Amino acid sequence: MKSLNDSISVLPGVGPKKMVALNKLNINTIADLLGAYPFRYEDFATRKLSEVSDQQKVALKGTVASEPVISRFGRKKNRLNFRLLIEHDVIMVTFFNQAYLAKQVETGKSLAVYGKWDAKRQSLTGIKILAAAADDELGGVYRSSKEIKQSQVKKLVAEAFKEYQELIVDLIPEKLRHKYRLMSRKEMIRNIHFPDNQKIAKLARRTGVFEEFFLFQVKMQYLKRHSRIKNGIQIKYDLQKLRSFIAGLPFTLTPAQKRVVNEICYDLHHKYHMNRLLQGDVGSGKTIVAAIALYAAVTAGFQAALMVPTEILAQQHAEKFVQLFKGLDVNLVLLTSATASKAKQRRELLKNLENGQIDIVIGTHALIQDDVNFAKIGIVVTDEQHRFGVSQRQVLRQKGKSPDVLMMTATPIPRTLALTAYGEMEVSTIDELPKGRKIIKTFWLKNSQLAQAYSFIQKQLKEHAQAYIVSPLIAESEMMDLKNAEEVYAKTKKLFEPQYHVGLLHGKMSSDEKRQIMAAFKDHQIDVLVSTTVIEVGVDVTNATVMMILDAERFGLAQLHQLRGRVGRGERQSYCLLLADPKNEYGVARMKVMVQTNDGFMIAQKDLELRGQGDILGSKQAGMPEFKLGDPVADLNVLQVAQKEAAQVVNNPAFDDSQNKDPLFKYVKHSLSTGMSFD
Ligand code: ADP
Ligand code: MG
Repeated sequence: MKSLNDSISVLPGVGPKKMVALNKLNINTIADLLGAYPFRYEDFATRKLSEVSDQQKVALKGTVASEPVISRFGRKKNRLNFRLLIEHDVIMVTFFNQAYLAKQVETGKSLAVYGKWDAKRQSLTGIKILAAAADDELGGVYRSSKEIKQSQVKKLVAEAFKEYQELIVDLIPEKLRHKYRLMSRKEMIRNIHFPDNQKIAKLARRTGVFEEFFLFQVKMQYLKRHSRIKNGIQIKYDLQKLRSFIAGLPFTLTPAQKRVVNEICYDLHHKYHMNRLLQGDVGSGKTIVAAIALYAAVTAGFQAALMVPTEILAQQHAEKFVQLFKGLDVNLVLLTSATASKAKQRRELLKNLENGQIDIVIGTHALIQDDVNFAKIGIVVTDEQHRFGVSQRQVLRQKGKSPDVLMMTATPIPRTLALTAYGEMEVSTIDELPKGRKIIKTFWLKNSQLAQAYSFIQKQLKEHAQAYIVSPLIAESEMMDLKNAEEVYAKTKKLFEPQYHVGLLHGKMSSDEKRQIMAAFKDHQIDVLVSTTVIEVGVDVTNATVMMILDAERFGLAQLHQLRGRVGRGERQSYCLLLADPKNEYGVARMKVMVQTNDGFMIAQKDLELRGQGDILGSKQAGMPEFKLGDPVADLNVLQVAQKEAAQVVNNPAFDDSQNKDPLFKYVKHSLSTGMSFD
């Protein structure tokens, strides 16, 4: 029986070679092929000669004014020439290696040709002859590759549509299609691939965007409902031990920290599979929450892992956790690529992870290498989640028998975008800073005021505070960054030494060097730390009160906010100095946002408004799903409606009945079971 899940190999002309080529484009089945929408359209509406510019691809219509002439050269090459009269102009049309078109070219006949216009020679290099009726037609342009041409993809799509269109059923419930005046699925697919005109193409896209968001949301929400119930592990932590651990901390938890600890503990204790995002602004105190979660697992006899994006951060966390767990029966190790370079040590470590001697491991993505195995992993926590992609998230999750997962991020995501980025997760939010924190005062200075900035730093140093100076980022070249940092370092030394010590930190250093520098800064042997952005995430030195950022306009808002978050971590008043001469209004607006607010959520929202979603999240980085038609920002209102309607559908108990014959239900089951829904 025919099915949309049939392999593309059933189509005429698809042999093993083409099959591989199509597979590479992620096209395996008929359904995939029908869903391989054109990424743009060629406009076949005919134009007047006077509106056409040189080298433009256009459709021109005229009367054939000369017999077609075919000239052959070489063994296989040929050229077809004829003249076309367009109003009062005569142009030359040339087709290469398409001599067979000559039969369609008759003197005196009206003809429309699509091709590339050469203004100087008044000639058109033909691409195709258009059907007479197709005056307003659009031609889809498809993703293709070296192995398969886009015209071949297009032909296969047409073939698949012809053979399988009867099998295309509606997934969006009829009621909703009616309510939002959407096309049937079959009409939508036809009109996205082969629109008769612009207007129809637009309408079809509108339906397609809704469908895409709606299906995505239905899947996410269905998964969320189910993953909680599905075979998770139960972590029966020792409440007494946990309580006394929390009581022994040097501070009391904020109400928000208490709340999220409760949310996490609830999940741990139940047979749910925890899949939780913990978001909280920089400095809100996520680390201690992670420590509590890890420790809870250990008291229940499980192992626990903390994964962070940089070595510095891994080291810092390891040091902090050793302090926190002092006197408790916790065996904690650090696993980074620096450990990896010491083969014997690494082997030993892996052995102890595998036999369960190690309770907690803290590391970079060295943690997710193939040869890292756990005896009994209970929970995995990732810090600075926005630095990891979906696939890294997944690998870690697969490390044990579905351990509970907690992902922490300080890059607050506007709620609406969180719907798509982390739609499958529960979200906990720390929405207050520890008491006594003063708001960081932020100043925007012109580069010409650099001397003032330095004297401001000097005043702070006199009061025994410390400062960071972040050197600008140049065109993503690490070498250039380094050179720049070294210049700033030299200049700063000249100004401040010998009274004060100046240190330099950059990405080209070995992790040992980095660790030494950070330790010296922490111990106040260094007063001013000049650094490239390697300090961006998570670094915690409470005595630092000034963050000066050079060429601040080169950084993204989220990054500036992260950098600023390195100060203001203690009770002293802290300052952020942004040195910038932005070249346009947009740059000015960004500096103003930084001066006006310390609220990460607000900044994320502003960033979104100023830049659009692609930049703010870097879709791959943040694990944003990629949509084929919809744009979560530009089509936000559609996304919201789709989200609301999807919830209605999923929350109806009848939906999850295994007897449900609804094509939507079958589709959801199928795509979740084949795992093709998220990456
Ligand atoms: P982030 O959420 O940015 O990772 P951290 O966990 O590094 O923040 O915490 C920032 C600083 O606040 C740390 O020095 C930490 O020890 C301190 N801190 C965390 N929670 C509290 C609290 N409840 N009261 C006082 N200080 C706290
Ligand atoms: Mg942190």
